[in-house]
Amino acid sequence: MAKKELINKLARLAVRTGVNVQKGQDVVVRATTETTILVREIVREAYLAGAKRVSVDWSDDIVSYESLSHMDQETLSEVPAWLVSKTKEQMEGGACYISVSSPVPGLNADIDPQKLQKAGIARQKALSFFQTHMMGNKTQWTIVAAPNQVWAEQVFPKLKGEEAVEALWEAIFEASRVRVETDPVKVWETHNAELAAHNQVLNNHRFKSLHFKNSLGTDLTVELVNDHVWAGGGEISGQGVYFNPNIPTEENFTMPYKWGTSGKVVATKPLNFQGKLIEDFYLVFEQGKVIQFDAKKEKEALQNILDTDEGSRYIGEIALISHESPISNTGILFLNTLFDENASCHMALGRAYPMNIKGGNSMSVEDLVSKGYNLSMVHSDFMFGSEDMSIVGTKEDGTTVVVFEDGNFVI
Ligand code: ZN
Ligand code: ZN
Repeated sequence: MAKKELINKLARLAVRTGVNVQKGQDVVVRATTETTILVREIVREAYLAGAKRVSVDWSDDIVSYESLSHMDQETLSEVPAWLVSKTKEQMEGGACYISVSSPVPGLNADIDPQKLQKAGIARQKALSFFQTHMMGNKTQWTIVAAPNQVWAEQVFPKLKGEEAVEALWEAIFEASRVRVETDPVKVWETHNAELAAHNQVLNNHRFKSLHFKNSLGTDLTVELVNDHVWAGGGEISGQGVYFNPNIPTEENFTMPYKWGTSGKVVATKPLNFQGKLIEDFYLVFEQGKVIQFDAKKEKEALQNILDTDEGSRYIGEIALISHESPISNTGILFLNTLFDENASCHMALGRAYPMNIKGGNSMSVEDLVSKGYNLSMVHSDFMFGSEDMSIVGTKEDGTTVVVFEDGNFVI
């Protein structure tokens, strides 16, 4: 009973707080077949919120795996015209988007990375107009999660089947602040206000750069763009609608200056990319560019991220999260960036968010690039926070401010 109620609350949260569906607006739900129990609640709640038409774009991980295994390279790299026109039609109709994340980590472990890479690039190229639309917050979008058995058993190796799935549901509810006794929509209003207050403090400092250091070997300077904006929590869409892109979210993040990162960063959690789990890796930067890297597992997948295009060797996001945060305190490694990135300081290889620079959402790409914005087909977050992370911010006039001590915010 309680679980059904909580699933409904998560669905309502995705609809009301996540995308904040407007009366008469179309809603597109993107989900895998493992998540029907949540998707059906989302669809109902979206209609209750006034949606005009709710469509679900289903995919199935095993079907995708079979295609990746058996289709030849050429066919895999062809993006059907109907997919492009369908995406355009939904977009031009002003739809908002709810994605239900339910990854199967390691599913594609035996697929040739080159094949994955080529298929991924072809898709990203054909649908790049859609990525621009979403990352520019032209409409409301959100990501929530639901378990599947394979994922759940990897997160909780001691549990099997339904038991593991139940445990993962509980962890997702807790991390998303969905509880029996409270209304999550109200709880998120308070949470958003707290994140906004933190953004304000960071924005007031107008840091020129941040220096990260810990005992694992991270020793990295990240320069920020002039007129950078710290964001986190709710955002405003191009249509002026307040929405939350991620459920959960704990981060305050901003835009690095493309050519201003130098030093070494050591990852503290694995990175799940195209169904491959990259583990124990580090990157070395010079003038913003990754010049050296290594990984104990799936190094080739990491190489493929970096080799995607010119911008994938530079970073587009830097995010600060205290080690003492609700998700980090669960002690659970979710093997899903939606959660793990909110438990740890992270950065993203690839494309930056225009909103992280003053007036960015209405700037042309050329203008953005001239200010140090990184353009790429990838946006791949990885975690490097630790309990002993220290961060020192340097302002324009050279004065310094301690931002993090022993893994946590001190400002
Ligand atoms: Zn982030
Ligand atoms: Zn990111």
